[in-house]
Amino acid sequence: MDYKDSLNLPQTDFPMKANLSQKEPEMLKMWEEMHIYEKIREVSKGRKVYILHDGPPYANGNIHLGTALNKVIKDMVIKAKNMAGFDSIFVPGWDCHGLPIEHQVDKELGEGRHSMSQAEKRRFCRRYAEKYVDIQREQFKRLGVFGDWENPYLTMAYDYEATTVEELGKLFLAGSVYKGKKPVYWCASCKTALAEAEVEYADHSTPSIYVKFPMVSDISPVRPKLKGEKISVVVWTTTPWTIPANLAIALHPEFCYVAVKVAGEVLIIAKELMERCLAAFGYGDKVCEVLDEFSGAAVEGLRCRHPLIDRESILILAPFVVLDTGTGCVHIAPGHGQEDYEIGMKYGLPNYAPVDDDGNFTSDVPDFYGQFVFAANAGIAKKLGEAGALLGSAEVVHSYPHCWRCKNPIIFRSTEQWFISMEKNDLREKALRAIDSVEWIPAWGRDRIYGMIENRPDWCISRQRSWGVPITMFYCDHCGNEFLTEEILAHVVELVGQHGADVWFEKEPQDLMPAGQVCPVCRKNKFYKETNILDVWFDSGVSHAAVLEKRPELRSPADMYLEGSDQHRGWFHSSLLESVGTRKRAPYKSVLTHGFVVDGEGKKMSKSLGNVIDSQEIIEQYGAEILRLWVAAEDYTDDIRISEEILKRLVEAYRRIRNTSRYLLGNLYDFDCKSDMVSYDSMEGIDKWALYRLEEIVRRVREAYDRYQFHLAFYTLYNYCTVDLSALYLDVLKDRLYTSKAESKERRSAQSAMHTILDAMVRLLAPILTFTAEEIWAALPAYEGKEKSVHLTTFPEVNQQYINPELAESWKTMIAIRSEIARAVEIARKNKVLGHPLDASVDISPPEDLRSFLEAHREDMRALSIVSQLNIVEMDGISEPYRSGEFEGLVIGVTKARGQKCNRCWIYSESVGADTEHPAICGRCLQTLRAT
Ligand SMILES: [Zn+2]
Ligand SMILES: [Zn+2]
Ligand SMILES: [Zn+2]
Repeated sequence: MDYKDSLNLPQTDFPMKANLSQKEPEMLKMWEEMHIYEKIREVSKGRKVYILHDGPPYANGNIHLGTALNKVIKDMVIKAKNMAGFDSIFVPGWDCHGLPIEHQVDKELGEGRHSMSQAEKRRFCRRYAEKYVDIQREQFKRLGVFGDWENPYLTMAYDYEATTVEELGKLFLAGSVYKGKKPVYWCASCKTALAEAEVEYADHSTPSIYVKFPMVSDISPVRPKLKGEKISVVVWTTTPWTIPANLAIALHPEFCYVAVKVAGEVLIIAKELMERCLAAFGYGDKVCEVLDEFSGAAVEGLRCRHPLIDRESILILAPFVVLDTGTGCVHIAPGHGQEDYEIGMKYGLPNYAPVDDDGNFTSDVPDFYGQFVFAANAGIAKKLGEAGALLGSAEVVHSYPHCWRCKNPIIFRSTEQWFISMEKNDLREKALRAIDSVEWIPAWGRDRIYGMIENRPDWCISRQRSWGVPITMFYCDHCGNEFLTEEILAHVVELVGQHGADVWFEKEPQDLMPAGQVCPVCRKNKFYKETNILDVWFDSGVSHAAVLEKRPELRSPADMYLEGSDQHRGWFHSSLLESVGTRKRAPYKSVLTHGFVVDGEGKKMSKSLGNVIDSQEIIEQYGAEILRLWVAAEDYTDDIRISEEILKRLVEAYRRIRNTSRYLLGNLYDFDCKSDMVSYDSMEGIDKWALYRLEEIVRRVREAYDRYQFHLAFYTLYNYCTVDLSALYLDVLKDRLYTSKAESKERRSAQSAMHTILDAMVRLLAPILTFTAEEIWAALPAYEGKEKSVHLTTFPEVNQQYINPELAESWKTMIAIRSEIARAVEIARKNKVLGHPLDASVDISPPEDLRSFLEAHREDMRALSIVSQLNIVEMDGISEPYRSGEFEGLVIGVTKARGQKCNRCWIYSESVGADTEHPAICGRCLQTLRAT
């Protein structure tokens, strides 16, 4: 007779196979139809507000793994905060202006762009950005990211542009903005200044040359030993094209310099570098004589002659001179370098840069007029050679700044630009102070941004392009004075709010200001307007004003900004400066950073290496859920690896969580929460233990979420599923669940625990496994107050009732003894004493301190060990004993179980065969059958 039908085997429609890539779109549709984001807002109403302010991705191209990673981390923060009992609002945003879009539009327009007005071109740029906002929005939604997707913020929205104009105006009226000539990073192919964040370093090969500058001052008053000698100071440079702009040579005040006589002339170089230099000049085997030694300070103010141009070059002192390369005498071109500019200011040197917007020499350098600077390198070296000033040259490969957009090497060039001063109104000092009012996660973020703010030059905010917010400044046609008043600013802000920033490009200056304006200096009334636009980092840097302060559901400062760690230089940085400059405080209370996506070997992903993994491909192949799981499972504070192998491992982990959930669901098919729930006090011991473990998990997972440590949350849940549940609790429960009467208290006790566990687990999983948690939730037996979506619930609270340390201690001991029994059974199986563990009868001789404990828990111990019989005996009753290494004095014997195997429950019993109607089953099963 087959007794299978009399067992309560698991039943469920919850599929084993996840089929994520097909099922996820259906679930997204369901969420959309139920307006999940608005529903979450409704249930969260009145709770403490938590604002994670979205850093706007650039509206260009598809999203990639890095953008996906960032958005998923944000989504996990938002979901975890909502479920922890906050009202956590998410307004996504996009950065829409700037060079990359303008570039793409230029490319698409081709030659046609030249016959187009600025306003017309801006319309193309706007359409381009709109297209990618739509594309990226769908891609972000596909990841299961919840937010106010229908009302995002766009930096090109009219009201946003108006705020940008207004914020710049505030800084200008406060005296923080000035126009000045300064060396800036300049991309000659994009024809614009670049922000530091727009510069990338890459290897670049340039000629390096040693150049002699003959001394024209009489050195003998300070160095009498050198009287009558022909002396030159030698410099070294890797940018020969800056030689025409040389105005000085810097020496270190304290380094020791030598005047060395070789081949009939005297050269001044640093003593420490002498041998290396002479070898580089080809003088390695020449006789040389050191005539004099002196510190750099000794020759300050002496003059040399420029080798190519009729001009002097002055010897100055600078602390930044180093002795790792070159000659210890540094070529200074104040118009072509930041340090050069600063030291030049100190010595009153002009900010000279004879190079135009295209990177070509101006007529100031007649020999190279119209030549592109990099192309002129060779010609300059040649000319120096002809002048007898070239001592040596070689090609060097060094790390050199490149344009982030066109990837071309850039130059440092002095131009007229608009700046936000770091010193006026103490912006630097205030920003540094504000940094310490912010929580930086991880903590090194604080030092990183502090160092950057401490050392950065003034913020160059002007760009010579079309697609952006204009710098709304007016100039007097008559006297050239630049001006903006509070009244004019308010007028412009209103116009921009109504018509967008395009209005600046379309209207005449007079039509952009209130009637009757005159130049504050000369009282004339003819004007022209500024044509530069703003750095896009200023755009996004005002989002705290344009979004957090303007939208009624939000507030400033935000609780958190969360971006990749490159944003210490970018958005965190510009937002901090703008907010401190206008509001004297940081726009955020905490800043969380994550690392970057790298391949399985830790290498940066790049097209040229061919190791790029596409987020869309992962979604198609595995589902967005696996991508989310990857984000959660990796420690994002470091660089985040991804490879096929990592994904396969995660798929396996996902399967185990899914199957554990499926098993729990399968055993709840006939469970009615209302009538079948067993109270805690009436539960079986091991069920109480499982709930105790659950509370530990709830506490640890919630702590992990509170600290944004998603990988800890995930692994805690994963280990609970695989170790506590699958390998132990659920394995032990099988007999009770399957063979007991369906409605028996024993089975209902197990089901009550299982329901409580799954109900808690699914909510703890929801921020990470957004789709699967919803699927499990739908399959979980209903109860009063059960929400329609798991995302409308909150995390389980720690239930103090389940925390029973005494019980936990007992079970801990039994579980440890269980492992010892399993070892003994395994040995018996190897020795062919028995086949299946259920064939075993186990005799235990415990140490004295455990004897009464085990006698009291004999049946629990048997069930836990999944053997047929378990007896507490004296040691001498055991033949072939297994002596425990874990418990001193614990001895275990394993023999074949007495009686016969029951056909229904597979447990051996002497009662099998006693009944004539059902001779193949045991007394316990018989009772169950008879009672049904
Ligand atoms: Zn460029
Ligand atoms: Zn004027
Ligand atoms: Zn049985």
